[in-house]
Amino acid sequence: MNYTSTRNNSLSVSSSFAIANGISEEGGLFVPENIPQVSSEFINSLVPLSYKQRADKILPLFLSDYGEDEIKGCTLAAYGDNFEGETPAPVKKLYDNVSVLELWHGPTCAFKDMALQLLPYLLTGAAKRELGGKKSVILVATSGDTGKAALEGFKDVEGTKILVFYPDKGVSPMQKLQMTTQEGKNVGVSAIEGNFDDAQTGVKEIFTSPEVKAKLEENNMSFSSANSINWGRLVPQIVYYFSAYADLIQQGVIKNGDKVNFTVPTGNFGNILAAYYALKMGLPVNRLICASNENDVLTEFLTTGRYNRLRKFHTTVSPSMDILISSNLERLIFHMLDGNSDETKRLFDSLSVNGEYSVSEQLLNEIKGVFAAGNCDDAETLNVIAKTYKENGYLSDTHTGVAIKVYNAYREETGDKTPAVIVSTASPYKFSNAVLRALSDGESSSLNEFEMVEKLQEITGIPAPAPLGSLKGKAPRFTGVCKKEEMEREVYRLLEIKN
Ligand SMILES: *Cc1c(COP(=O)(O)O)cnc(C)c1O
Repeated sequence: MNYTSTRNNSLSVSSSFAIANGISEEGGLFVPENIPQVSSEFINSLVPLSYKQRADKILPLFLSDYGEDEIKGCTLAAYGDNFEGETPAPVKKLYDNVSVLELWHGPTCAFKDMALQLLPYLLTGAAKRELGGKKSVILVATSGDTGKAALEGFKDVEGTKILVFYPDKGVSPMQKLQMTTQEGKNVGVSAIEGNFDDAQTGVKEIFTSPEVKAKLEENNMSFSSANSINWGRLVPQIVYYFSAYADLIQQGVIKNGDKVNFTVPTGNFGNILAAYYALKMGLPVNRLICASNENDVLTEFLTTGRYNRLRKFHTTVSPSMDILISSNLERLIFHMLDGNSDETKRLFDSLSVNGEYSVSEQLLNEIKGVFAAGNCDDAETLNVIAKTYKENGYLSDTHTGVAIKVYNAYREETGDKTPAVIVSTASPYKFSNAVLRALSDGESSSLNEFEMVEKLQEITGIPAPAPLGSLKGKAPRFTGVCKKEEMEREVYRLLEIKN
């Protein structure tokens, strides 16, 4: 199985090449040339298996140049004791035939661990084959959760260096503390003045700059990406959609073959795109419901066909979804255009030059055949957290709250009662401030982050995940803030390269 680029479909490379390089030379994203198909028997065979074993059956379909034993080694390292509880991705009943898929039992208490605990192992294998022993430099722009998850995944992994940039005012105090206190010999962290898109644009520019590339080569290093544009980030996420479906069969909620709806709290469009790949492989899916916060660029696109990033940027209580450019949408468009890379390139060039693009009526209708979309603001998010806790005894974080709200509205509006899964992307304790506010009728608290965690435990009796408690009293290691124009210099400094 080979990979091509969304902006040059004459390219054909291995999965190792795609994972080692992260992004294609001409700026396109790597996508599988064709999507492997699975049978209903294959899905049945997943039911009695553990999460790791399910991953061992699904990943080789996409990573054909990795040996099956190599993959088993990777999944063993990734999905072992680093996850709390019996399984990395449990499915729990919310109400009626609506369930929650919890993806936050890993070391950073958010869903990015599902991929980032595995990626470093996929990457070291790929780098051996593709980079000839050069050191892989991981450059990450983060809206909060990716950065910490990548730091945890890569810390002290042989042959790698990791550098993380985050928007100074765009992450929660807990997320900031998680990153500034990061341990590890091969890590660097810097805040930048600006929002997430500034950080992401800056990283993309450095990543594609020929001068920087040459400089790294002189020093026997090569860039790789752990951002959600890397195929090695996407492919692990396909596994949990199959796993959730297998769990629903096991729990007797559905029979094999029944369709389900997935609602996904969305930012960069990586998580929900993995669900689209699962659907294309043959997982019985009725609708993928894309949930956004007040940054509603995706809701507008999925309902009107016009993507317009020139709009007000909102800082919300669900900061990991505060995004105006959803990079992974490019992969969806490419597939929906049947692999037409000229047209995909035209649209995304227009996005960077004009700040917008529109797709044809026909394409929009095809998109609407699979996707529904909705958005909600902060007040609605806090309301639904309180309501879900009171009525269903389920405590959700703010991102999951957005998804619950959007799903409930979808179900009401359409009358579609297909069995549904709401994807839960973070522990409520990771966003204690907002969750506590939701449970106290909107009243803010003067407590610090750790006191809030304790207070929330006191009110709900639900224990906080262990990794959050261990942060208490840790001194920050990385306190620098730089301007967007200084990012390149900061990269050289953190890599100890003379400029
Ligand atoms: C990253 C993140 C999201 C958004 O996921 P995408 O793959 O970027 O769409 C949602 N919730 C949380 C908690 C996240 O960390």
